[in-house]
Amino acid sequence: MKADTVIMNGKVITVDENFSIKEAIAVKDGWILSVGSNEDVKRFIGKHTNLLDLKGKPILPGVNDSHGHAALFGGTRPPLALDLSYQAVKSIKDIAASLATKVKTARPGEWIRGFGWDPAFLEECQIDTRRYPTRWDIDALSPSNPVMFNDFSGHTLWVNSKALELSGVSKETPDPPGGIIVRDPETGDLTGIFKEPSAQGLVMKAVPLLTKEEKMAAICSAMQVMNSNGITSYTEAALGPGGNQFLGGLFGEECIDVYRDLYHERKLTARVSILLLFGQYGGLSLKDLRDGVERYDWTADLDPRWLRFGGIKIFADGVPISKTSWMWQEYLGGGFGSLTLPGATDEERYHHLKEMILYCHRKGFQLGVHATGDRAISATIDGFVEAIRDSPRIRRRHYIIHGDFISRGDAERAALHQIGVNMQPFIQSQIAGAEPLIVGEERAAYEWPFRTVLDAGVPLTFSSDMPVTYPNWRQGVQSAISREAIGSGKVSGPEERITREEAIRAYTIQGAWQDRMEQLKGSIERGKLADFCVLGEDLLTVEPREIKDIPVVMTLVDGKIVYDASGDAFK
Ligand SMILES: [Zn+2]
Repeated sequence: MKADTVIMNGKVITVDENFSIKEAIAVKDGWILSVGSNEDVKRFIGKHTNLLDLKGKPILPGVNDSHGHAALFGGTRPPLALDLSYQAVKSIKDIAASLATKVKTARPGEWIRGFGWDPAFLEECQIDTRRYPTRWDIDALSPSNPVMFNDFSGHTLWVNSKALELSGVSKETPDPPGGIIVRDPETGDLTGIFKEPSAQGLVMKAVPLLTKEEKMAAICSAMQVMNSNGITSYTEAALGPGGNQFLGGLFGEECIDVYRDLYHERKLTARVSILLLFGQYGGLSLKDLRDGVERYDWTADLDPRWLRFGGIKIFADGVPISKTSWMWQEYLGGGFGSLTLPGATDEERYHHLKEMILYCHRKGFQLGVHATGDRAISATIDGFVEAIRDSPRIRRRHYIIHGDFISRGDAERAALHQIGVNMQPFIQSQIAGAEPLIVGEERAAYEWPFRTVLDAGVPLTFSSDMPVTYPNWRQGVQSAISREAIGSGKVSGPEERITREEAIRAYTIQGAWQDRMEQLKGSIERGKLADFCVLGEDLLTVEPREIKDIPVVMTLVDGKIVYDASGDAFK
């Protein structure tokens, strides 16, 4: 048998059981025929075989970005939104300048969107830690265009007075459950800051949704960025009826229609797993889940290698930076956070969470539960363990999303029941500077305990949570092995560092485990799908601080090139 493509003279980082390094790969019909030395695969070269000479470059299994929001990522980048990330703006002044430019070309009354601001990287807030963006910073620049600026985490929204006016939110509006409308401590005036989805929703309901064409453009642009980063599989971590009215509809079910269209038109350039969102983000209830599961037609004649459903997303709590993660011990300045679920007391919300988990488990769904605070994580693992005990024959590989403050004991419980944890090392290094002010030095140093989790035996997966961070997984590897804060370079919790090999596994074979497809992808082995990522520098030997800048030179999915930095792979 002859191969369609033979890749030679590479440093093939197989990510097999022994992390062995090979030289060459033969591919036929999208599958790996053979992996070995140049000599081994030569016999597969025929008249029509494409030959790819890597000239010593490393090649990895295609990367699996196992938790992120691709539609939202695509929809929160130019031209659909202003880029307010720390790479693009350094101060509130910069943000104002960017807004002023946009206002000049905006249609009358058009909503101006922006995304990615992070007070930890804004000059004014660095100088004075009590300083926070307000509507008064932007009002004069955009008197007639409503403005909505989402922060990098998606948990905080900053709007101008025009947006307040259109949404009908005023001083008299009470805080919704689980959300905060920030008010000036002296006058009680709204500052234009809304924390958590339930509060953001008060404004968002006035914002026009994106059209299906805009959603298509957003998803395709996200997929292109991912391919250019060597990503060949990803999880869309919350799409469904619960997201229809949220963030322009970029969490909504029309995005699922877009994915179905791309699938049927054979235009997917990455393999996609979708976690279904059945209730309003941040206010999901058992009733929403029941209604969603009964009514929503998620079964379809789809090839799960390309597009796969079967998972449900639950949000258990918020994020530490907004002090909305549910913690055992108080935040600096007070408060424990709470579960963001229906219920009047912690006890009621805890039982609600367990009921939701049990319901989904019995229905045969895999669960990805957003849980960041140590207490929310304990509660979620309680729910998983009880559900698994209730019906042990159902094995769905439930997992915790984020798991920031997972305790050693809970990591051991997770390992025992093979419950996964999906972490974002890039976020660790992005927020490391700000966390001590929220939870104190000691807890901040422990946050995202990669080493503890791996040593306990937990299946650990890594991801970007795009658009929270850009899908540059090389930065994630660098963060996981160094735990250095971006900007200051300060190391946070060096004992929680892991090795390059472990980090690479978390971005490849472990993602395949989460997709329940480790037999088919996640490593370069005979009989697996031909998904690869070729790098310009050696990830295993380059200086730790240079890992983030390693260029991706080529990406192949199903044996076909979907990204080629040089543009002349076979010439
Ligand atoms: Zn997420």
